[in-house]
Amino acid sequence: MCGIIGYVGSENSVPIIVDGLKKLEYRGYDSAGIAVYGDEGFGVIKKKGRLTELEAVLNKNPFTSHMGIGHTRWATHGEPSDINSHPHLGSRNKIAIVHNGIIENYKELKERLERKGVTFASQTDSEVIAQLAELYYNGDIIDTVIKVSAHLEGSYALGIMCLDDPDNLIAVKKDNPLIVGISEHGNFIASDVPAILSHTNKVYYLSDNEITVLRKGGVEFFNSDKEPISKTLETINWSLDSAEKGGYQHFMLKEIMEQPKVLRDTLSSALLSGENKNIIDSIDISKFNKIAITACGSAYNAGVVSKYVFERLCRFSSIEVELASEFRYKDAVIDENTLVILISQSGETADTIAALRESKARGSVTLAIVNVVGSTIAKEADYTIFTAAGPEIAVATTKAFSTQLALLYVLAVKFGCKLGKIPPDMESSLIAELNTIPEKISAIFEHVDYIQKYASACISYKNIFFIGRNIDYAIALEGSLKLKEISYTHSEAYAGGELKHGPISLVEENTLVVTLSSCGRLFSKIFSNAEQVISRGAKVLFVGNACEVETSDKVSLIKLPGIHELFSPSLSVVVLQLFSYYVAANKGLDIDKPRNLAKSVTVE
Ligand code: GLU
Repeated sequence: MCGIIGYVGSENSVPIIVDGLKKLEYRGYDSAGIAVYGDEGFGVIKKKGRLTELEAVLNKNPFTSHMGIGHTRWATHGEPSDINSHPHLGSRNKIAIVHNGIIENYKELKERLERKGVTFASQTDSEVIAQLAELYYNGDIIDTVIKVSAHLEGSYALGIMCLDDPDNLIAVKKDNPLIVGISEHGNFIASDVPAILSHTNKVYYLSDNEITVLRKGGVEFFNSDKEPISKTLETINWSLDSAEKGGYQHFMLKEIMEQPKVLRDTLSSALLSGENKNIIDSIDISKFNKIAITACGSAYNAGVVSKYVFERLCRFSSIEVELASEFRYKDAVIDENTLVILISQSGETADTIAALRESKARGSVTLAIVNVVGSTIAKEADYTIFTAAGPEIAVATTKAFSTQLALLYVLAVKFGCKLGKIPPDMESSLIAELNTIPEKISAIFEHVDYIQKYASACISYKNIFFIGRNIDYAIALEGSLKLKEISYTHSEAYAGGELKHGPISLVEENTLVVTLSSCGRLFSKIFSNAEQVISRGAKVLFVGNACEVETSDKVSLIKLPGIHELFSPSLSVVVLQLFSYYVAANKGLDIDKPRNLAKSVTVE
């Protein structure tokens, strides 16, 4: 995810673009850049770091132009650096582009271009677009864009300028958002409404494979056969604050709702093509005799879920999961035959970095699952695979957690196959099941109103317990953590069988027990645990797909779509996130910034 903006009109484009980038910084903030049209060539400034770094350079080198494109980056290919920042130019400096998305076949395209003598300046996937456009450019930029798009696999929203074309700004998109804004003084492209809302609330939403040509006095749209098409102009009625959150009240809710899309991106990066797939394919799991998984917070919970999955699918002799803060000091029994899997959204979690360094010092092979390209863990691990979650702003993780889990599932399936524990037909059915997760999450969203209503009646509970058995227990840990993080409600997660060993003494009238129930073979067991707490005055909310229960004033049910038991946490967690969110929202709390918590824990 990143933010792009472009402008052509009668005003100076530079302050318009910088102002727009400020509104898009939530989409990416590891670097930023701008290119403006000039008769002698493009004026380009690109800077690693927050937008203020770019602004500082622009203040020292002011330039003006009627047309320009800007970008705030969230790196996916190539670490954050000045050179990897967008815009990218072809080597003849004729075409400048900004790109939001991932070009999955960039390696093949890059090799092909290099064989033709093209020299690349950056490590990004995006630069191939500029280079390819220069190669195909025949004097007609629309033809060129059509031809380039036909060669691109993956997702893109592109803003394009051509030096031969002082009047036209071109854009095209596939699987990433792009809007076109219309104003009296000029016209805009942008990733999102807030970037242009101070100039106009009149926008067109570009659809996949549509091309738009903007000039000062008008906008045209074409399909991929270059036939003109007409589109409907929409009026936006959002305030700036709600526009930044995509119309949602909080970033957390927006990020929960983004999960189908980011999961689709993450799964395709690991299963179809790209760096993640290459890395996963290249790991020879048979040379290890132990897998040690280590992380903190929700990432640790993803590790706990995955332990059940690795055990069931790989039948691996030794799989451990350990909090990174414990792992680093425990004198871990690991060596060169151990694969240590480290999970961290930011890639900067202090304890996880320490666990990584400790593992490397003991000769173990390290595999990191990280969201931020260029982060310390991403750089130092022997192998790194990236979640395609995009920037996560809310402190309480949702989409990063879900994408970590998705990559862990893929690892378990692929390792299981390599170890000969999963026959090929089972592999394809497991992968087919994995690929149903995004649409099943969308189906859960159809019941948001019920979850919201249920949660609003839960704000007075003093204690909320989460119970489950087997993999349901693992995801109960995440449900409980989410609730306490943002709603400040006391909460614990227990394995169902443990209730009678202690926690049941805390169960009384004003207690809710959320009962995870997607493990069909254990449903009768967890059901009797639920009955035990009901008979002590508690209320129970069943969340799962394996439960057929009669609802009553004591018993409620949120039924999930059917899915392979091992992947059910990906669905349960969405209900648990929404439940926590609405409990906190009904308490009127500062959901995106819960008290005492920070997004990335870089201290011990
Ligand atoms: N893949 C591009 C890059 O790494 C664009 C990233 C994005 O859209 O966030 O530069």
